[in-house]
Amino acid sequence: MRSMRLLVTGGAGFIGSNFIRFWFVGHPDDEIINVDRLTYAGDPANNADVAQTHDDRYSFVLADICDGAAISEIVAENRPDVIVNFAAESHNSRGVLDPGAFMRTNALGTQTLLEVARKRRVPRFHHISTCEVYGDLALDSAEAFIEESPYRPRTPYNASKAASELIVRAYHETFGLPTTVTNCSNNYGPWQHPEKVIALFTTSALDDEPLPLYRQSANRREWLHVDDHCAAIEAVILRGHPGETYNVGSGDERSIEEIADAVLDALDKPRALKAYVDDRPGHDRRYLLDHSKITRALGWRPAIPFEQGIRETVTWYEDHREWWEPKKRAMREQIDEFAWVRPAAMAGAR
Ligand code: NAD
Repeated sequence: MRSMRLLVTGGAGFIGSNFIRFWFVGHPDDEIINVDRLTYAGDPANNADVAQTHDDRYSFVLADICDGAAISEIVAENRPDVIVNFAAESHNSRGVLDPGAFMRTNALGTQTLLEVARKRRVPRFHHISTCEVYGDLALDSAEAFIEESPYRPRTPYNASKAASELIVRAYHETFGLPTTVTNCSNNYGPWQHPEKVIALFTTSALDDEPLPLYRQSANRREWLHVDDHCAAIEAVILRGHPGETYNVGSGDERSIEEIADAVLDALDKPRALKAYVDDRPGHDRRYLLDHSKITRALGWRPAIPFEQGIRETVTWYEDHREWWEPKKRAMREQIDEFAWVRPAAMAGAR
């Protein structure tokens, strides 16, 4: 197969940086241009290993996906075979307190990228979306979301992601842009910002600090290791059909209570560290994806069992204090997960 050039947006964040690392393992001759605005969630340290080992094939460009002129120039210069759009505001709690930032990057930023892709005739646009666009399920529901399930987002983050997906669809239907979308369940793994629940619980437990569990601790999420997500994106980029959407899940659901216990057990810490806090407004009860389409059509299936993934992930956080400690300190000044009843749960929000 001839080598490819990928333009990855948001590649300094959690999933994007894992994706770049993952892609170079299977495609060492390909080129990747990472375009990232480096918000609080983006960190060049996430790409430092790749930048060293692939210095002739990897480049970083500091840019905002909402800046059409800058993106147009980057695309004209690099002529990518595919744009893979990870860039987003991704944390539900921040979206409750600053919804505008989410609409701007997730909806308008995606449209800006699509417009450049259309004008510059980029052969493929792959968009990373989430299970959360489908809304939530009752805890005892027998349903799982399929690709045709209606969008019923309940939070600003989910609504902005649903909006971005609809815009992707419009560019395919109206302009014939060859787009694909993956809707993935909750990810976990190395390099995840300590604001996200598994990383938050792990880093809190490592410091013998209380783990803040929302009071609705029976609420469940479907967990997928980030490498399994990357393999699904790879399958869709290489073998997916333009115009199609693929759900990516594991079928492995865990309540928030079970997640806290798994982290505490893996670190040999006492369960007494669990502390119950008020739920974030709009806290979804449950999501579950039916991912049979991607398995049937492209042969993808999850490969990393949760027990193995969680063990490896907590070990990674144990070994990377220098990476997460400054992020956690900064976060403390911005979000207070213990204080959703108070209007000022997030101090100094952007
Ligand atoms: P993240 O917050 O860790 O990373 C987001 C990255 O985007 C950061 O590097 C940030 O600097 C960059 N960014 C933000 N605004 C930008 C802008 N305007 N221009 C350029 N770059 C910008 O997020 P993540 O967890 O890696 O998620 C990546 C994608 O996957 C998102 O689209 C998210 O909606 C989706 N997703 C995430 C999960 C999950 O569990 N984390 C699950 C399903 C889908």
